[in-house]
Amino acid sequence: MTDPVLDSYFVSHGAPTLALDPGATGEFWQRLGAELPRPRAVLAVSAHWATAAPEVSAAAKPDTIHDFYGFPEPLYRIFYPAPGAPALGERVAALLGAAGLACTIDRDRGLDHGAWVPLRSMFPAADVPVVQLAVQPQLDALWHQRLGAALAPLRSEGVLILASGGAVHNLREVAWHGGETPEWAREFDEWLAAALAAGREGDLVGWQRKAPQARRAHPTPEHFLPLFVALGAAGPGARGTRLFQGFTLGSMSMAAFRFAA
Ligand code: ZN
Repeated sequence: MTDPVLDSYFVSHGAPTLALDPGATGEFWQRLGAELPRPRAVLAVSAHWATAAPEVSAAAKPDTIHDFYGFPEPLYRIFYPAPGAPALGERVAALLGAAGLACTIDRDRGLDHGAWVPLRSMFPAADVPVVQLAVQPQLDALWHQRLGAALAPLRSEGVLILASGGAVHNLREVAWHGGETPEWAREFDEWLAAALAAGREGDLVGWQRKAPQARRAHPTPEHFLPLFVALGAAGPGARGTRLFQGFTLGSMSMAAFRFAA
């Protein structure tokens, strides 16, 4: 039996507290995980692993990394014991290397909350192996799209490419006790959905110049860059379909997209 070709995805993972109170986003993740053809493994591209050059994780038993501070104590007692996939780590490094994008293999790194918070809802049995790919925040959207394009063959090898960041992510503007979603956040969120739906690739990779409220939506780009890996992995002419829409803590978008050419 041959594996079905999997689409690639971007999810907004929100604040770590979502792991305790997943709400509508958690229900969406659960549905998504249940509806997908079951992947052999997941390649999670997380905003919370930033490196100067490409790196992939390849631990046999990745630890759960609690990479956040000052949050409620029960959050630090959540573990996501999914197995690793060392062979997939090697495969990712080989594909990137062949595309001229030299990639280091980290055999110790565990799963950060950008990966385990959504995966815990998508695959609650923690029985789908996971490796992570880092982002390079000092490099641009086009670079991340190239990373994704080089990884496209994984989609026909049963690997789910799951990018995890935030569609609108500005921690200085977060309303920690809740609040109205400001207009600037909606404006960027809607621009993104429309540009992805129409496959406006030039506008998307040029988002810092082209999108309204770009700087305010992403004062730093690391939560946005994973999206371009998933977009690139879907192939030339890819479009993105918004699967989930919503905001938390005022301005934080929880939007999720599926990419297909
Ligand atoms: Zn985050």
